[in-house]
Amino acid sequence: MSETLYRKYRPKNFAEIIGQAHIVRTLSNSIKNERVGHAYLFTGPRGTGKTSIARILAKTINCTNLKDAISCEKCESCKIITSGKSLDIIEIDAASNTGVDNIRELRETVALSNASLKYKVYIIDEVHMLSTGAFNALLKTLEEPPAHVVFILATTEIHKVPQTILSRCQRFDFVRLPIQNIIEKLTLITKSEKVKIEKEALEMIAISAEGGMRDAESMLGQIISLEDKNITVSEVEEILGTADKKTAETTAEMILEKNSSGAIAKVNELLENGYDLEVFNKSLINYLRQLMIIKIDPALKKYFSSEMTSERLEKMAELSKKAELSQIISAINLFLEAQSKISSFILPQLPLEIAIIKATNTFPEEIRSENDEEISKIKTQISKPQLKNQNLEEKDNNLAIEQFNNIKTEEKNETVENIDMSTVRSNWLKLLIDIRPFNHSLSALLSNCQPTKTEGNIITLGTPYSFYCERLNDKNNRLTVEEVFSKILKSQIKIRIEIDKNLVLKKEEEPPKKSEQNSLLTDALKIMGGKVVEE
Ligand SMILES: [Zn+2]
Repeated sequence: MSETLYRKYRPKNFAEIIGQAHIVRTLSNSIKNERVGHAYLFTGPRGTGKTSIARILAKTINCTNLKDAISCEKCESCKIITSGKSLDIIEIDAASNTGVDNIRELRETVALSNASLKYKVYIIDEVHMLSTGAFNALLKTLEEPPAHVVFILATTEIHKVPQTILSRCQRFDFVRLPIQNIIEKLTLITKSEKVKIEKEALEMIAISAEGGMRDAESMLGQIISLEDKNITVSEVEEILGTADKKTAETTAEMILEKNSSGAIAKVNELLENGYDLEVFNKSLINYLRQLMIIKIDPALKKYFSSEMTSERLEKMAELSKKAELSQIISAINLFLEAQSKISSFILPQLPLEIAIIKATNTFPEEIRSENDEEISKIKTQISKPQLKNQNLEEKDNNLAIEQFNNIKTEEKNETVENIDMSTVRSNWLKLLIDIRPFNHSLSALLSNCQPTKTEGNIITLGTPYSFYCERLNDKNNRLTVEEVFSKILKSQIKIRIEIDKNLVLKKEEEPPKKSEQNSLLTDALKIMGGKVVEE
């Protein structure tokens, strides 16, 4: 069925080609001006019309009744070419075993006079697959092409085609087709096949084809063959499994509109319907990424035209105006962080829900209550007797618990000119948490430090390890810490980092290992000051 659709609706002439307008225009003009080249090279992704246009070019230059570079379909040349029986149109698939033999034959036959057509046309598909020997043979022919011969080389991998060949060809770069072009063609097909299909369902097929017309036609074929003659969005969703993509868009919009409740509901709906949340999260991250890029420069949206309809692109451009760049980037970081946790967590939706809550607000109520939850978990952990066997100093425990409690008391920050130690200590945990969306590893680094003294607005952090000292002294890291701490303490804070060999951190503390720990709890434990042993 799919192959039938593709063959059945293959364009017959330049007028019927949808998309690649720049190529069609140039080729048509050169034919109108009677400037037919000897060698053309068509390069671009699969399914973007290279072979179709090669065949039309072969027919057009041979049509004896040409009007405005459109083949007539009625003359003997057109008829024999359409029937596929012309001895003068030679298609070689370089990817097949016979490709090399064909090229050898080509050298022998190329000089022979044509059977019936004006031009003998060699269409060599996947030309990059030719062996060195075959390329050399081809090159010899291209160097002195007989007047009545035209070569059309097609490839998906231009970088594998030798420069010597490239330099002898007129090159045409085929692009992925924009969604609109694919929809246009699919609409033609469905009308002709008398199939009713919802507009949105067509869009979904077009988006899934990722710019390849052949793939789009093939998908449509599959759907038509499976379904009745009335195709709905949900049927297409089911077949293509694209619900997550669309939900990702809606969810991203909700997040940027700070509608955490709506976004959480979407995630849970997907889960209930059996969708893979990892796949969904990837779509979500990709959508946010696109939004970020459009925010940087709306002109860059052209790179997504094969993934999205122009209506949706417009909507994205609108949305990007409303959202802050920092908000988008922070959301991307949060969902990237959630990605690895989805599969390893008992409740796969939880990492996403936390990311949504964090991404939808500028750290007010919700995030505190979430921290409270983590804190209470940690308190439970700490009170477990097993921890006593892990060389944890009681003093550290108490300090840790004191810090957890202090997080609630620092809610109302006054402007502070001279920072005192107790203010720093009571806000230390908040720093570790607030800095995570900016830089996850920085939070882990800081958990191996302790504030040791304050002078005016300068806070000195001590760590017994030179490794941490170096990392934290890195300009970007230091500036990030200063920025976040300044925000928390509502004062211009400077940070100084010192090695303090006398500082007692917990014994197990080593420079961070490469292996990432997945569970939220261990993560939480890690940031809560590094005072608590691992799970
Ligand atoms: Zn004709």
